[in-house]
Amino acid sequence: MTDFSSFTAPGINALNPYVPGKPIEELERELGLSDTIKLASNENPLGPSPLGREAAAAVLGESNLYPDDSGFRLKAKLAAKTGLQPDQLVLGAGSSDVIDLVARTFLAPGRNAVFSRYSFAMYPIYTTASGAECRVAEALPQDHEEMPYGHDLDAMLALVDENTRVVFIANPNNPTGTWLKHDALRSFLQALPRDVVVVLDEAYTEYVCETDFPDGVSWLGDFPNLIVTRTFSKIYGLAGLRVGYGMANAELVALISRVRHPFNVSLPALAAAEAALDDLDFLEKSRGNNQRGLAQLVSAFDAMGLAHIPSVGNFITVDLRRDGADVYGKLLARGVIVRPVANYDLPHHLRVSVGTREQNRHFLEVLQQVLAS
Ligand SMILES: *Cc1c(COP(=O)(O)O)cnc(C)c1O
Repeated sequence: MTDFSSFTAPGINALNPYVPGKPIEELERELGLSDTIKLASNENPLGPSPLGREAAAAVLGESNLYPDDSGFRLKAKLAAKTGLQPDQLVLGAGSSDVIDLVARTFLAPGRNAVFSRYSFAMYPIYTTASGAECRVAEALPQDHEEMPYGHDLDAMLALVDENTRVVFIANPNNPTGTWLKHDALRSFLQALPRDVVVVLDEAYTEYVCETDFPDGVSWLGDFPNLIVTRTFSKIYGLAGLRVGYGMANAELVALISRVRHPFNVSLPALAAAEAALDDLDFLEKSRGNNQRGLAQLVSAFDAMGLAHIPSVGNFITVDLRRDGADVYGKLLARGVIVRPVANYDLPHHLRVSVGTREQNRHFLEVLQQVLAS
């Protein structure tokens, strides 16, 4: 047998692959169940944006043609919405694709990336895959008054050294749902050396209703080393189509675009994203459902005596004070898919995505049964 692991590129052997949420179809196949619910991947429970869905369907007849590699129309629309120039935008097959472009452009053996504990699972994967070192800052303590498990920006800054090339920040963060306020984050950006690229991952930004929540786009003029990423996977409900984007100054965009695969965003994805940007009704509905759903889950957790991490995303992470993987398995057996977060160093927590009112109710009922059993 050939031992391929002895000649992989640096970083590959140390890599722990991403574990996705379990697909509904797989669970139903395994258990012979039919009415399962999935609250595991922060997907929009209201379905795809109707305008997006229609636009995607309308272009399927042109699927023999490659998509527009420049993404001209989607970029034009994003530019009009954000006030940026089209050359400040880069499109990806999901925003994780854009985050990977940054890692592949700036990270290499001998360099490092800084991010927080309990942050998005793709940061260590992309960093390690590029052969660079992961420098993981301790998060705020679990008994922190305002933001338990949140990013500790001072701790992150303290880990930055002359070999740091990238800092990853998710705002709000997944899987905790915690968030950084305007002034604190801006001071952090000001304190960082300009040769460190900051990925500000705003995958959930459209869900956030807090007043001092920052809009990273407004800082792009001040920080040439900043790239803000957003996605159509979350509030727009287009996760299955894979489309997201990054926003930065034009030079940074040109550099990371060198490693972008041609035609990385498919024809229906481009069409859907462009149309979904106009679907303000759907956005409003989705935000409303999420606010009500968060309140529904929080009040039930309170009533059950379960602590949760304060969240402004479309998910919430609850402390079961017992083995989360075990509870996850028991929920699965009853047809409810949530997300175990032991791989995020949270072995006693589960992350649950906000569903429809009925899905939340069903999840809470089954959770109560499992905890009582
Ligand atoms: C979901 C998510 C993304 C985006 O995923 P894509 O589907 O690739 O756009 C990015 N960052 C965080 C923190 C996420 O939770």
